[in-house]
Amino acid sequence: MKAAAFSYARATSVVNALELLVAHGDKAKVLSGGQSLMPAMNLRLVSPELIVDVGQIAELRGIAVRDDIITIGALTRHVDLLRSPEIAAHAPLLTEAVAHIAHPAIRNRGTLGGSLAHADPASELPACMVALNATIVISGQAGERRIAAEDFFTGIYETALSAQELLISVELPVARKNAAHFFCEFARRHGDYAIAGLAAQAIVEKDVLADLRLVFFAVGDRPVLAKAAAKLVKTAITPAVLSDASTALGEELDPQDDQQASASMRRHLAKVLLARCTSALLGRSDLNAGGPV
Ligand SMILES: Cc1cc2nc3c(=O)[nH]c(=O)nc-3n(C[C@H](O)[C@H](O)[C@H](O)COP(=O)(O)OP(=O)(O)OC[C@H]3O[C@@H](n4cnc5c(N)ncnc54)[C@H](O)[C@@H]3O)c2cc1C
Repeated sequence: MKAAAFSYARATSVVNALELLVAHGDKAKVLSGGQSLMPAMNLRLVSPELIVDVGQIAELRGIAVRDDIITIGALTRHVDLLRSPEIAAHAPLLTEAVAHIAHPAIRNRGTLGGSLAHADPASELPACMVALNATIVISGQAGERRIAAEDFFTGIYETALSAQELLISVELPVARKNAAHFFCEFARRHGDYAIAGLAAQAIVEKDVLADLRLVFFAVGDRPVLAKAAAKLVKTAITPAVLSDASTALGEELDPQDDQQASASMRRHLAKVLLARCTSALLGRSDLNAGGPV
C-alpha cells in the first residue's frame, strides 16, 4: 500500500517548524528519520495532510557534555549514539542499548527524538531515558518546557507532547564513578522489537545497591520504572530478598498478550531479567539461579 497524498514542507529552523505546526494543527506531522512515520503512513495508520521535515535543522543535532550534563539533540541518529565516545564514557547504558535497535539501515536514519516521540512501549530508548533520569526538552510557541522522562511517556504511542510542539533535546546526568548499568532484552531475532527487556542503572557501594532504577519495556503500555527495586536497595541481597523482589515485580507488572507472547510469559521473562540484572550489577553468580528462560 502507498501513503495517501500529502503536502511537504522542509522547516528551516525550530521557529519555522513551530509556525508550520501551529498553522496546521492536528493535520501536520513532524518527520525526522522517517523510520516509524513512513511505514505508518504507507499502512495508512496515519494520513497527515502536511509533513514538516525537520531533518535539516542543524540546531537539533549533536552531543555535548557540560557541567556533568550530557545534552543530546533530537536529530541525533541511533548510529551517532552508538559511535559516540562521549556517550560510551558518560552514558554507557545507551551505547549498549542502541546496538539492539533494528538493523544498521534503520539505525543510520532513525533518531533519538523520533524514537521518544513515537513512544513504542517495546522500544529501547524510552526505557533508557527513564533509567538514566533524563529530562526531555520540548519547544512550543509559548517557549520551552522540560519534563522528566518518567512523566513524558503516557501510554502506547502517547506522550506529553502536543501536536504543536517539537522535541528538541534530552539532558542526562553524567554517570557517577560508582554507577553500574545493565541492559538485556529478549527478542525472537536480534534487531526485532523486544518481547521483554530491562534497562537499569545503579549506584553500587560496598557490594550493596545504594540506588537502583529498573526500567522494564515491552511489558506495559509505557516504560515501567519498577517499584520492586526498593526491595533490593540498601540491603544485603540474599536469594530470599531477591525472591521477594521478584514476587513484588510480578504483582506490579501488567503485561498484555499479543502474537509474540502471552502476558504470563512476559511476566516470567521480566523476573528472569531481574535476577540476571541483580547478579550482574553485584557480580554475584549465586543470585542468577534464575530458572529457565
Ligand atoms: C523494520 C524496523 C525495525 C525497527 N526496530 C526497532 C527496534 O527494535 N527498536 C526501536 O526502538 N525502534 C525500532 N524501529 C523504529 C526506529 O528506531 C525509528 O527510527 C524510530 O522509532 C523513530 O525515529 P525516526 O527518527 O525515524 O522518527 P520518524 O519516523 O520520523 O517519526 C516518528 C514519530 O515521531 C514524531 N517525531 C519525530 N521527531 C519528532 C520531534 N523532534 N518532535 C516531535 N515529534 C517528532 C513523528 O511525527 C512521528 O509521529 C524499527 C523500524 C523499522 C522500520
